[in-house]
Amino acid sequence: MSVLVTGGAGYIGSHMVWELLDHGEEVVVLDRLSTGFDWAVADAATLVVGDIADEALVDDIIRKHGIDAIVHFAGSIIVPESVSDPLGYYLNNTVKSQSLIASAVRCGVRHFIFSSTAAVYGSPASFPVGEDTELRPESPYGTSKMMTELMLRDCAAAHDFAYTALRYFNVSGADPELRTGQSTKGATHLIKVACETATGKRDHMDVFGTDYDTPDGTCIRDYIHVSDLVNAHYLALLRMREGKGSLVANCGYGKGYSVLEVINAVKDVAQTDFDVRTTGRRPGDAVAIVAEAARCRRELAWQPRYDDLKTIVTHALNWETKLTRRNRQ
Ligand code: UDP
Repeated sequence: MSVLVTGGAGYIGSHMVWELLDHGEEVVVLDRLSTGFDWAVADAATLVVGDIADEALVDDIIRKHGIDAIVHFAGSIIVPESVSDPLGYYLNNTVKSQSLIASAVRCGVRHFIFSSTAAVYGSPASFPVGEDTELRPESPYGTSKMMTELMLRDCAAAHDFAYTALRYFNVSGADPELRTGQSTKGATHLIKVACETATGKRDHMDVFGTDYDTPDGTCIRDYIHVSDLVNAHYLALLRMREGKGSLVANCGYGKGYSVLEVINAVKDVAQTDFDVRTTGRRPGDAVAIVAEAARCRRELAWQPRYDDLKTIVTHALNWETKLTRRNRQ
């Protein structure tokens, strides 16, 4: 039995590969390397460079490697890009997921874990936001992910097939052993941007809006360490193998930090000051998004190990420093 990880050369996917290998699983990665890197894939995994919608290729991988589960990360993730290129997002995230799910169903893969997002909730009226809250995505990105969740729901009803959709909050940090980390070029995520600024890759960073209705005027998010996140996926795999059926669960800690709190944590850990400028609000930003996190802990017996902002920032900074050295070589 082996596990197929799509997008396994990317940020979260490459952490998932290590999580599976650490638990003695056989892993096959399918990635077309459009944003990921072959060097990010652990040597012990088999890397196939190709497209998730190439059904002949996927069917062949499933049969050849005896795949019993698919963990599906491959997709596009930049919200503003999805607004300017909705069809590209529906193609990459929805249409191609349909092909992948079709391969799974046709070839008898009964376990499917899907990388979903808190963006399916849009701007929740209150927080923390629970899984049963009405889904009102506000971007093609969020809608494209929601549509895939719905396809999975309907396939689980129609076929001998179970899925777990994990809705990620703000994924950050890096493998504590620094075997992998966030390497994406031009990343826009707050902790990544702050770490790039702290390590001198940027000469300043911007805070998008200080006039929100929050204690310090900046937006609040629920930052989850990537290693805790991938551990939830592994537990979801075990749960499905035990025959416990499908599950939709938030992945966050249920705790919110403001943009300024995060930036101060980065300055503190890096022991450096850097230029932070205030600019206007970024279009589409919700004021606060924090997970109702009980279901993931309850259903998966998930026990986060890195639920601490300073730990997340320390690992992210350590990775950024390693990446800087690597890129200079
Ligand atoms: N943010 C910021 N400056 C940056 C990047 C992000 O002020 O350079 C803010 C952003 O406006 C949001 C929060 O940080 O309020 C988290 O943004 P991120 O892009 O990391 O994640 P999102 O919640 O949008 O998925």
